[in-house]
Amino acid sequence: MPLLVMKFGGTSVADLDRIRNAAAKVKAEVDRGYDVIVIVSAMSGKTNELVGWVNETSPLYDAREYDAVVSSGENVTAGLMALTLQEMDVPARSWQGWQVPIQTTSAHSAARFVDIPRANLDMKFAEGFKVAVIAGFQGVSPEGRITTLGRGGSDTTAVAFAAAFGAERCDIYTDVDGIYTTDPRITSKARKLEKISFEEMLELASLGAKVLQTRSVELAMRYKVRLRVLSSFDETDEQSGTLVCDEDEIMESKVVSGVAYSREEAKLTLVTVEDRPGIAAAIFGPLADSGVNVDMIVQNISEKAQGSDKPVTDMTFSCPVDQVARARKALEAARDAGHINYDTLEVDEDAAKVSVVGIGMRSHAGVAARMFRALAADGVNIKVIATSEIKISVLIDRKYMELAVQALHDAFELDKAG
Ligand code: ASP
Ligand code: MG
Repeated sequence: MPLLVMKFGGTSVADLDRIRNAAAKVKAEVDRGYDVIVIVSAMSGKTNELVGWVNETSPLYDAREYDAVVSSGENVTAGLMALTLQEMDVPARSWQGWQVPIQTTSAHSAARFVDIPRANLDMKFAEGFKVAVIAGFQGVSPEGRITTLGRGGSDTTAVAFAAAFGAERCDIYTDVDGIYTTDPRITSKARKLEKISFEEMLELASLGAKVLQTRSVELAMRYKVRLRVLSSFDETDEQSGTLVCDEDEIMESKVVSGVAYSREEAKLTLVTVEDRPGIAAAIFGPLADSGVNVDMIVQNISEKAQGSDKPVTDMTFSCPVDQVARARKALEAARDAGHINYDTLEVDEDAAKVSVVGIGMRSHAGVAARMFRALAADGVNIKVIATSEIKISVLIDRKYMELAVQALHDAFELDKAG
């Protein structure tokens, strides 16, 4: 039997009506001849409520009990989904993680999959069951305790099952109808993409992160699981949603596929640091150790320090605004310990990052120049530039972020299909 994985997020199972609507979509696939593995999230808002209860009961909670409580939202929807399918005469049953058993590491609240044995589900499909409804987001540790995968983890459950069972596709039902060329709230010209590659999807995190847990995309890329992101609020047909797939499947040859952004960025500059071997390690080691996510890095040209011939330079980097305090503390501690030396630390907390992303960049020259011209035409000053094989990012003043996204969307004609 061909097999599909269908995952329904919180808003798609928010109440009994929504569950009936989702179940009808499952039944339609069963009627088309598929066996289906359904992965459900908790009803929307439920997980937050459970997390709140844990924090209120025990601020320094035992992570194993946190998982015991927080995983329960999915158990409710899994049972209700199985019941709803049974009411529609679809042979279905629910499975909690430990029943499969979904084996994970013991990293509570951030567990990783170790194995998803097929035997139990395969046996039920062989008996004539058409649907296995799996509680997403959870598993069981080697110690036999319930684990959870981190917020948004049901997406990753879905991809892991699709990989383990060789599913034809993994459909992720949510409340948006696909992945867009950029955030439609920033420009009404944003267009829904028919297809996007795994790599681009990972880079477009700011557009996709709320739709797909990043881990799930990494896993899909590794196991080449075709993912379709679509809305459970629309009728489903062949054209629905966006397919996230291997780049070999993409014929469309746009140089740039999307414009991503990150609004809350900061730029930090260490003025006058020694220019010597080991200085970058001495600066960025302590930053990493204190959990600062450094993104772009620029080291300026070296010059001689005043009244000496020791070479010095300025080191600039960016990180999320809410990590500035942590970064400052780490750098001051490194200076106090004598590991680094600098005159001042300049901090600009009013930055934003805008990126253009596209696998077409690998084979096209001039993308950066076109990007910079578009920004210049709108008078947007660039503070820092960083590039990777399929992405060019610029750090700019936050107040120009929307303008920059719109200008780049126009410059690369993203409103027009392939
Ligand atoms: N219910 C969990 C959460 O809200 C997992 C999920 O929905 O993916 O994070
Ligand atoms: Mg989600």
